Amino acid sequence: MSKENVAEKGYFGDFGGSFVPEDLKDILDGIGVAFEKYKDDPEFLEEYRYYLKEYVGRENPLTLAKNLTEKVGGAKIYLKREDLNHTGAHKINNVLGQILLAKRTGAERIIAETGAGQHGVATATACAMVGLPCTIYMGKKDTERQRLNVFRMELLGAEVVAVDKGWGRLKEAVDEAFADLVANHETTFYLIGSAVGPYPYPEMVKYFQSIISEESKRQILAKEGKLPAAVVACVGGGSNAIGAFAHYIDEDSVRLIGVEPAEAASISKGKPAVFHGYRSLTLLDEDGEALPTDSIAAGLDYQGVGPEHSHLHAIGRGEYVSVTGEEALEAFQELSKTEGIIPALESSHAVSHAIQLAKELGQDDVIIVNLSGRGDKDVEQVFEILK
Ligand SMILES: *Cc1c(COP(=O)(O)O)cnc(C)c1O
Repeated sequence: MSKENVAEKGYFGDFGGSFVPEDLKDILDGIGVAFEKYKDDPEFLEEYRYYLKEYVGRENPLTLAKNLTEKVGGAKIYLKREDLNHTGAHKINNVLGQILLAKRTGAERIIAETGAGQHGVATATACAMVGLPCTIYMGKKDTERQRLNVFRMELLGAEVVAVDKGWGRLKEAVDEAFADLVANHETTFYLIGSAVGPYPYPEMVKYFQSIISEESKRQILAKEGKLPAAVVACVGGGSNAIGAFAHYIDEDSVRLIGVEPAEAASISKGKPAVFHGYRSLTLLDEDGEALPTDSIAAGLDYQGVGPEHSHLHAIGRGEYVSVTGEEALEAFQELSKTEGIIPALESSHAVSHAIQLAKELGQDDVIIVNLSGRGDKDVEQVFEILK
C-alpha cells in the first residue's frame, strides 16, 4: 500500500486524528493498542471468520444484474450482496469484529450510539449472540421517530437510553456514549458504527469492512478475469464504501466512486473542521454548528464523513458525486422491478449513479455496486411517499 494511503497515528493526510479530552484520548489509544495487537492474531481472525461464515452468512454473492445491464445497454453491472447478510446490511461485519475484540480486552459490557437505529439493532443482535449486555444511546427525538427499532433492540435484550439533551439527535447520543466510556472504561467497550470518530475507529471499522472488497475482488477475477472499471458505493459515514474500496485502493485502473445524498453531501459541500472528535470535511455553519441535513435515507443523514474519504477526495484517488433523494427513489423502484431485489434507500443512491455510469462506459467494462443493505426496512416509507 502506498505510504500516503496508510493511516499514520490516526491520520489520513490532513484528516483524522483524535481531538478529544486527554482522559478519553488515553482510553481510545488503549483500544488502538488492543486493535493493533489482535488484528493479525491468527486465533482472533479465525474466530472472526467463523462468525462471518456461520452467523452473517458470508461469503455473500457478487450477482450480475443481467436484466438491468441489458436495459441500460452499457457496462456490465455487478451487485455485491451485503443485503443478504444477517440483519440485512453491511453493519454487522464491523459490529462482530469490534465485539470479538471487546471480548479479548476483557470488556463486560458494550455501549453504542445510534441515529435511526440501524447500528443499534446490529449491535444488540451481536451482543445477544455472544452474551454481552449492551446499552444503546439514542437521541430522544430519534427514539420517538423510530419506535419500532427501539422495540427491536429491546427485544434483542439491549437497554435503550433516550438522551433528552440538546436537539435529542445523534450528536447528543455520541456525547453521552463517550461520557459513559470515560466513567466506565474499565468494564466497557464503545462500539462505533461507521468509519468515523477519533483514532482508532476509522482504521478499525475499515479493517472489519474490508471483507467486502476482499471477497468482491476474488469474485470478479473468477467471473470476468479482470478488475472492474469502477466500484460504486453510497457514503454516509463511509463504512460500506471504504470496505468496498479497500482492496482496490492500490489498483490505479479501478475508479473508486462514493455517492453522497445531495441533501447531506459532506464531501462535495463540506469544509474541513473538527467534529465528533476528528478532522474531516463537514457540513457546519459559521458558528461551527451542524447544518441540518435531510436525506431520504436515514443511514446517510449525517453532517460528517470518515476522514479517509476526505483524504481520498483531496488526493484525487476517490471520486465523490451526489444523487438526490428523488433519483434514489427511482433507482429503488428500478432495481426492484428489473432484478427482484429491493435495495435499501441508502444503497439506491449507489444504484442510481451506477446506472448513469454504465451508460457512459463501454459494454466491455464492468462496474461493481456495493448493495449495502436490503430495502425491507424502507418499504413503508416509500409507500407513504409514493401513494
Ligand atoms: C448505515 C447504512 C449506510 C450508511 O453507513 P456507511 O457507514 O456510510 O456505510 C448505508 N447503507 C445501509 C444499508 C446502512 O444501513
